Amino acid sequence: MKKGFFGSLLLVVIFGLAGCLSAPVDTVTQVSTIDALLAGVYDGHMACGELLKNGNFGIGTFDGLDGEMVVLDGTVYQVKADGRVYTPGPRLTTPFAAVVRFQPDRALTVEDPLSYDDLKKLLDKEVPDQNIFCGIRIDGRFSFMKTRSVPAQKKPYPTLVEVTKNQPVFEMTDVTGTIVGFRCPPYVKGINVAGYHLHFISRDRTSGGHILAFNSEDAAIRIDACNRFLLVLPKTSDAFSSTDLNIDRESELEKVESGSEERNE
Ligand code: ZN
Repeated sequence: MKKGFFGSLLLVVIFGLAGCLSAPVDTVTQVSTIDALLAGVYDGHMACGELLKNGNFGIGTFDGLDGEMVVLDGTVYQVKADGRVYTPGPRLTTPFAAVVRFQPDRALTVEDPLSYDDLKKLLDKEVPDQNIFCGIRIDGRFSFMKTRSVPAQKKPYPTLVEVTKNQPVFEMTDVTGTIVGFRCPPYVKGINVAGYHLHFISRDRTSGGHILAFNSEDAAIRIDACNRFLLVLPKTSDAFSSTDLNIDRESELEKVESGSEERNE
């Protein structure tokens, strides 16, 4: 009986150590806050290599706001304003990102066409608990996919709503690929995007970006419900420290997230 006890203890120690080497499951790890990004705090402060230790799946942007980030199956993709997809090295930093070690709890296949709005309704029905985080992965064929990216900025940085006034928009037809993103709870307002925030990467890894609209033809949906949230703030950043984060930027966020003229799609 004593032996059994020590055996169990050893297992706990071993698994405990293993747990230190990679992020625990069901944990969304986030770098900085969405309001800091909206305010123009674009200097990266976590390297992509470090980010990958916290998750193999997620979205974000890069140092200087140089494009849209898609993290899929442990690879970081950078969709730049030229519309091309790059794979940055581990030392490139991010000013804002959220990742998770993706372990789906739920899977469903939809063969009927789905728009972005249809998808939101479907997922809200599938996972009615709005108070937890959900990682969302959708592999599918899309008759239409509309994305945007953001161009790299120089100091003094303009606000994000200023940048996205001239954002490059990409329209794809009959494209196969993967949607990567999150549904965040309403109480993250100011910290992350409450509700849905999705990015796209094509299967051939040649196109992608922040999703504005889409229509899927078939969709394999996987959902990872996450009840842990780790927020990593810039430790030494004058820009972050001196930014007034007591300003309500919700209307700016709405314009930035959906694209001002795409809001009804
Ligand atoms: Zn985005």
